[in-house]
Amino acid sequence: MTRIPLNDLGRGLVQEQASLVAAVSAVIESGWLVHGPFHAKFETTLADYVGATHAVGVASGTDALELAIRATMPPGRDSVVTAANCGGYTTVAARRAGYEVVYADIDESSLCIDADALSAVLTERVGIVVVTHLYGRAADVEAVNRLCRDRGISVVEDCAQAIGATTPAGPVGGLADAAAFSFYPTKNLAAIGDGGAVTTNSPETAAKVRELRQYGWSKKYTIAHDGGRNSRLDEIQAAVLLQRLATLREKNERRRAIVSLYSQRASERLRVVSTDDEGFVGHLAVVVSEDRQDLVRHLEAAGIQSDVHYPVLDHLQPAYADDYAHISLPVTERLAGRILSVPVFPEMRDDEVEQVCRALESF
Ligand SMILES: *Cc1c(COP(=O)(O)O)cnc(C)c1O
Repeated sequence: MTRIPLNDLGRGLVQEQASLVAAVSAVIESGWLVHGPFHAKFETTLADYVGATHAVGVASGTDALELAIRATMPPGRDSVVTAANCGGYTTVAARRAGYEVVYADIDESSLCIDADALSAVLTERVGIVVVTHLYGRAADVEAVNRLCRDRGISVVEDCAQAIGATTPAGPVGGLADAAAFSFYPTKNLAAIGDGGAVTTNSPETAAKVRELRQYGWSKKYTIAHDGGRNSRLDEIQAAVLLQRLATLREKNERRRAIVSLYSQRASERLRVVSTDDEGFVGHLAVVVSEDRQDLVRHLEAAGIQSDVHYPVLDHLQPAYADDYAHISLPVTERLAGRILSVPVFPEMRDDEVEQVCRALESF
């Protein structure tokens, strides 16, 4: 029996080795290692790809969130609202920016932030809502925009899991005030190390992020903004990302097709999250089960690795739990005990996909 890992980055790396080495060589030959021509080209190509007017490279997805939050917080506000089931990145970023985090419950079916729950927590102090396109499915940003626009609240998309995902209003990344992307090696668009970007349609926001990512400089050696830092996307990662952007669409399509098969074949005891969605890019294949422990054992017996994204909710993280002892998020908390991720990656072979389908079918 073949053992099927949740993910296998080695396959893509080996398949693309020649083109990756060529990208790295081109950077070395250029003699330009930071903010050179590949980085500039990547920023404009990424902006086009996601339908935004500006893209700003940064060092990671968490930095992208933090700088997007710093750049879009309206004056006089100090709170960021988000969902608590998205891995903690927004919480880390918002707290690092010095803001308080408030959580809204999620929608049972999409597992993304719920508009009614959100509207109940929008106080005068709230300056930003971060909407995460969880697992590769575009969340309903328009509903969030509608709630926030008249209240002077900025909306930031977390697109770390969803590059290429589309909605009737366009691709994710250009639907709100700013958006954050991660190019961590497990993401759909992967660097060979860390990387991230902020996209926006606002020239002011783009300019602010450009300053914040480089010490707060308005120009070389002139610090115009407090709160700046060094968060640059280096030239080698930019060259690799440009290269890989060319095949992202087909890889996303492969992911989506795999998760769609899971959905068609899964037993009635399982619900596969978000596969009917046209714009879904299959970052993770997540199933919801009332009997998760049974399912884990069943998959293990079939040679299939699984994991939970994410096992610890933001408001229950040991570092923060004291601050949130008073809150309860019933849907978020119930689903946290029922979700399970099964293997999906573009290089999965058809026989492996079939093996997972059989296991989901026979559960
Ligand atoms: C991976 C991820 C991030 C953080 O990206 P890093 O590059 O690892 O900092 C943020 N949000 C979500 C939803 C992610 O999956």
